[in-house]
Amino acid sequence: MHIQIRGIEDERLIRPFTNIANLFFEESKVSFTAAENPDFLADFKIESPVNLKGTVTLLHVEEDKSYHTSIEGTVDPGSTEKELFKQLKDALCKAYLTLLQEATGMVQKWGILTGIRPTKLLHKKTQAGIPQAESHQDLLENYLISPEKINLMQNIVERQLSVVPDLYTLQNEVSIYIGIPFCPTKCAYCTFPAYAINGRQGSVNSFLGGLHYEMREIGKWLRENNIRITTVYYGGGTPTSITAEEMDMLYEEMYESFPDVDNIREITVEAGRPDTITPEKLEVLKKWNIDRISINPQSYIQETLKAIGRHHTVEETIEKYKLAREMGMNNINMDLIIGLPGEGTKEFEYTLSETEKLMPESLTVHTLSFKRASEMTRNKQKYQVASRTEVEGMMGMAEEWTAEHGYTPYYLYRQKNILGNLENVGYSVPGQESIYNIMIMEEMQTIIGIGCGAASKFVHPHTGKITQFANPKDPKSYNDSFESYTTQKITLLEETFSTNKTIR
Ligand code: SF4
Repeated sequence: MHIQIRGIEDERLIRPFTNIANLFFEESKVSFTAAENPDFLADFKIESPVNLKGTVTLLHVEEDKSYHTSIEGTVDPGSTEKELFKQLKDALCKAYLTLLQEATGMVQKWGILTGIRPTKLLHKKTQAGIPQAESHQDLLENYLISPEKINLMQNIVERQLSVVPDLYTLQNEVSIYIGIPFCPTKCAYCTFPAYAINGRQGSVNSFLGGLHYEMREIGKWLRENNIRITTVYYGGGTPTSITAEEMDMLYEEMYESFPDVDNIREITVEAGRPDTITPEKLEVLKKWNIDRISINPQSYIQETLKAIGRHHTVEETIEKYKLAREMGMNNINMDLIIGLPGEGTKEFEYTLSETEKLMPESLTVHTLSFKRASEMTRNKQKYQVASRTEVEGMMGMAEEWTAEHGYTPYYLYRQKNILGNLENVGYSVPGQESIYNIMIMEEMQTIIGIGCGAASKFVHPHTGKITQFANPKDPKSYNDSFESYTTQKITLLEETFSTNKTIR
């Protein structure tokens, strides 16, 4: 879909306009230059940039049909250049989205918001002391977010503040993400760093050597600088793909190297693939007081699991879940995916009825997203997925089911190319929410990523400025250079927390 824009030339607008177009069409192209056979022509007439007033006309070329609206926005006179641009961008995006909605008949419930973390916007307003009614009015009128999604955002913000009452003052602590890039086999929708573990013991050994090194060095820096850890999260891949002995040594390292582990608020280990769970590994998790694990069915339909390359059975998920329960794991999360190939309302209803028999403490409901690098996206024609309306219906079923069964939403995030332009929502029974998930979504504190494919975010405690840093995704590059990645992260930690040192 090609959209040609006329009447404005600021290149910084291409990206937001493309992101919005992608909510409606697959693979949109937006340009300011004359194009051969554009599908839409959008004519912007800005009368006064100072007052953000003007009009937009959108012509659907093939149908020879035009749609009109006015540009309305407010300019805060004391704004910086950056703030002025944001106000202009929001006003133009709002007019542009309104016309695309009219032309396609599709309504975007998240309005002009295309980012990953919508709740951050409401947290910012809450932190600034803006009254709730005023914030909601702004989200509705200026961002065109539907009342239903505003309500969801509000519920989540409140839930998060009740789980982490000091959320706005945790910037002097850090959380730690540990990435273990191995899985028994690779799932078709996956773009995580996940390498099939079979036959790779050599690579696993060197990887674990690097990981222990990183844990020791980062732990040493945190101790020396008196910085506490809020949460630790082992993800990947599947961190339970390694052997029970390797897991045991890894958690021992954590207790030896990290400061004050007994007072870390939460330690999670993803045990996503049931085929990796054994009684020995569960013993190790218990031994080291791991609070929370994740066992992920994704679906309870066997054909679906086969189609997406998860080589385990539905029975195995149930059996391993029960085993974890019997062995004393009392905070278990389960992930489900809406819109998996071949699945519709009937299949999802079945998945929910199976979930009811297990009642995990938390349930994360994802909507399938076609990530660029996945097998599923490369061979899209092979995978039949539900329509936008059906996906929306299934999302509604998840909302109802969780509410009826005592779960509350406590975090959400969106992704590109997600079916129906919906979201992923984490639900939990009260008191069992994952604090790490809240910290990663709301970006209130530094997250140090250790291991393969681990992304770090250094959040400056005073300015909130975020600096990102990524460890390599493949074990070979990691094994070759983990020392240098560790040093670079320690330099970034020094920079991020240097102001605190002067104050102390
Ligand atoms: S289990 Fe998770 S990380 Fe591993 S291949 Fe499947 S989706 Fe990817």
